[in-house]
Amino acid sequence: MTGVFADLAGQDAVVAQLSKAAAAAQGGPGGYGGAGSPPVIGGGLGGVVPPGQAQHSAMTHAWLFTGPPGSGRSVAARSFAAALLCPSGGCGDCASCRQVQAGTHADLMLIRPEGLSYGVKQTRDLVLRAAGAPTGGRWRVVLFEDADRCTEQAANALLKAIEEPAPRTVWLLCAPSAEDLVPTIRSRCRVVTLVVPASSAVANVLVTRDGIDPARALAAARAAQGHVGRARRLAVDPSAAARRADVLRVPLEATSLGPALALAASLVKTAEEEAKAVTEELDEPERDSLRKAFGEGSTGKGVAKAMRGMAGAMKDLEDRQKSRATRVKRDTLDQALLDLAVFYRDVLMVQLGADVELANADRDADLRRLAAATSPESTLRRIQAVMRCRDRLPLNVAPLLAVEEMTLSLAEA
Ligand SMILES: [Zn+2]
Repeated sequence: MTGVFADLAGQDAVVAQLSKAAAAAQGGPGGYGGAGSPPVIGGGLGGVVPPGQAQHSAMTHAWLFTGPPGSGRSVAARSFAAALLCPSGGCGDCASCRQVQAGTHADLMLIRPEGLSYGVKQTRDLVLRAAGAPTGGRWRVVLFEDADRCTEQAANALLKAIEEPAPRTVWLLCAPSAEDLVPTIRSRCRVVTLVVPASSAVANVLVTRDGIDPARALAAARAAQGHVGRARRLAVDPSAAARRADVLRVPLEATSLGPALALAASLVKTAEEEAKAVTEELDEPERDSLRKAFGEGSTGKGVAKAMRGMAGAMKDLEDRQKSRATRVKRDTLDQALLDLAVFYRDVLMVQLGADVELANADRDADLRRLAAATSPESTLRRIQAVMRCRDRLPLNVAPLLAVEEMTLSLAEA
């Protein structure tokens, strides 16, 4: 399997469903269902094809991605967004596909509730912006993560948008299960149900696609909790593996004030370095193509004027790059915290004698040492401290402060 769906291991039914929809969507709103079909998604009233109707189009304007945490709801939704926006239906390689993966595509709106819930004003603004025409391609895609965190009024605003869809807007909602959304929204969405891929399925992809040694692939698949892209990075990129090793030093070394503060500083620094590597790779080519678009290096009438115009556009671009850098930094740190939480969960499983597959089976000795030295209650408190830190980071708390508070709690728990 190649292209944008390559990261969806063990989700064959979902991939088949989405590929079919993306192929049907290739022609744009007027294009699918055959030439000359009306510019209404799905071909039914309000764009929704009633269940069981014979002319059931593969494409529709509202999708609901469900599945347990870690099953890749947002990965699936993002892959689908890439397939809809890519000129060749989701190659995974072109500028459009890369921008979708980086979250910088102009026709992709990524929405993630920042607090505990998503408010009505935010949703109304979103609905207005979503209704705009696509800037480049055929579609404007709104990817709404954690749609279950909408407040009731926000859900009503969202419902309106889905009931009376803008012709070129596609909504992709993500929630743990269909029951997490009000029935009125749920019934207007095509539901995509993900399953948690078995570590063996993920490992299998790494072995067959990337030629990775089976034992290493399985350890990486377990560590990555079913996330193929991350499993691959852990298996092939020594610096990713080293960063994970750094993170997992925390449970063993955060035993008193001094080390706790030092570990917090190093956690934040490591995340910043990783984020910097990721964003730098994206930033320079973007600045480069902007300069080319404004004709830098050419001479003649009008060039000087164009160059003055470029200064403004460059500033806009740099502002966007800056906010992306902040986001990547936060996501990277969040991933590190998730690794920590999963490590403590493994410790708890050992303490409780539960017979489950451990994500950190490759660190069995560390797990058992910590399990023997601490109580299940303190492990639970540590998991809570990590989760509290994850909740605080999106609230504009200085990362170092939030992480220090966490490592201090880990040392005390
Ligand atoms: Zn592409």
